[in-house]
Amino acid sequence: DSREAARTALAALRVLKDTVDVHADELGRIDAVAGDGDHGIGMQRGSTGAYEAAVRAETLGAGAETLLHRAADAWADRAGGTSGALWGVILRAVGTALGDTARPTAAEVASGVAQASAGVMELGKAEVGDKTMVDVLVPFSYALTAATRAGQPLATAWDTAAHSASAAAQATADLLPRMGRARPHAEKSLGTPDAGAHSLALIVRAVHGVFVP
Ligand code: ADP
Ligand code: MG
Ligand code: MG
Repeated sequence: DSREAARTALAALRVLKDTVDVHADELGRIDAVAGDGDHGIGMQRGSTGAYEAAVRAETLGAGAETLLHRAADAWADRAGGTSGALWGVILRAVGTALGDTARPTAAEVASGVAQASAGVMELGKAEVGDKTMVDVLVPFSYALTAATRAGQPLATAWDTAAHSASAAAQATADLLPRMGRARPHAEKSLGTPDAGAHSLALIVRAVHGVFVP
């Protein structure tokens, strides 16, 4: 039912926040190679604010959409930075796709991720190959959509897609950044993956556990 979907969304945000906390120093170091080094702290501020807002929403009986919209706004407000605004877009798009009432299907989750991918590209104007989180979000979304269309249950489809995400994040090490703060120091980033791509891959891999029945 709708309460169960909200509790699943809350559990996913908890896993997301815990994953960011564990990897915050590593994310900062990666961002510091060619960027400004604040990706770990920014993701911690955003994901903590999002989780706290989601806890409040869940206590008030919100459905998954309302809960994720509150979390999205809190993330963008608290994190600041480029990735904060983009993570706000991701959570908002997934929330809208899930809705507040019915129990979401795997196809609806995949559709939410596809809307998130489109929304990030619209706001940030990055394309595949620019060495940003888009390089993970797009293949993750394609793989999730393909696997759910093939009839896989959400946990299986998400696991398949999370493996694509990890491979895609690793592959950004070979790219030169064309967007964001890393662009002026592009050559320095060769051999290091993009910080936002890496954090996204870590997060989707960890969130998989929430969907295992
Ligand atoms: P900031 O760049 O403002 O310091 P963060 O360090 O938190 O913010 O996030 C940096 C990450 O944001 C980059 O590694 C990249 O993945 C992502 N990013 C930056 N600009 C864009 C963009 N225009 N589109 C998509 N992702 C972007
Ligand atoms: Mg930064
Ligand atoms: Mg910054």
